[in-house]
Order: sequence, then C-alpha cells, then structure tokens
Amino acid sequence: MKAIVTITTFRGISFEAIHFYGTLQIIAGDDIELYRSITQTEIDKDPERWYGYDEGDLTKSFNSWKDIVIAAGDKAKEKGISLEEIFVEGIPNTGSLPYHEALKPIDTRPRCKKCGKVFESGEGCYNTPRGLFCVKCY
Ligand SMILES: [Zn+2]
Repeated sequence: MKAIVTITTFRGISFEAIHFYGTLQIIAGDDIELYRSITQTEIDKDPERWYGYDEGDLTKSFNSWKDIVIAAGDKAKEKGISLEEIFVEGIPNTGSLPYHEALKPIDTRPRCKKCGKVFESGEGCYNTPRGLFCVKCY
C-alpha cells in the first residue's frame, strides 16, 4: 500500500448540509488535501454559501464521497502512484476498501456491526466507538 484516501463527513445542523472532505495520505510522504472547482450551477443555487466565489474557484468541500475518491485518484496519478496501491477509508458505514472497490456500487446504509441488520430510519441503535450496534447485539 502506498497511499490512503481519508474521507471526512461533515453534517451540519440543517438536513441538507452534508459535505465531504478528503485527504490523500501518501505513506512515507505528504498528506495532500483534495480540492475541486466550484460550478456556476452551484453558485446560482446557493448564492449565500458561495458568496464571493467565482466559477472555477477551488473548495475543499465536496458534495459526495465518490467525488473525493475520483479526485484522489487523479491526484495519485499526478504523483505517480498506482491506483492498485491505494485504500479508501471513511466512506459512511463502510470499512477500508481498495480504490477500485470504492468506485463500485456500495451499500452505505447504517447497519449493525455484529449481525449486519440494516437500521430503519428512526430505529434506535447504539453508536459506540467500536461501531453501530442494534439493540439486541449491544
Ligand atoms: Zn445486531
């Protein structure tokens, strides 16, 4: 393994405010923060958030974790790192994955770490440092 893509999810107070941030951590090298260009559509849609920004300006805030995986892949190629040697961490409700696995369809619904049960929305569960557990398994 040569590098790890680390994804951080930011969940704001309002429901829509979910943003993703990513770093390409090169083993025995630098940590590179990932950026993307802002589109005019985004600025038009949320002028308050993008006040003072022009189309093409850079931001660390991504709209999906998948966009980060792709941006990290581009950055890795730029640095001469093979995608075969990259792992991705921080995809919601998912463990560490090889780069190519991270681009396949993934079930990111929250589930019990022990029995694998998928939680319905509003269903109670225990969120512990070891992971999420259903009421039966906790
Ligand atoms: Zn369970």
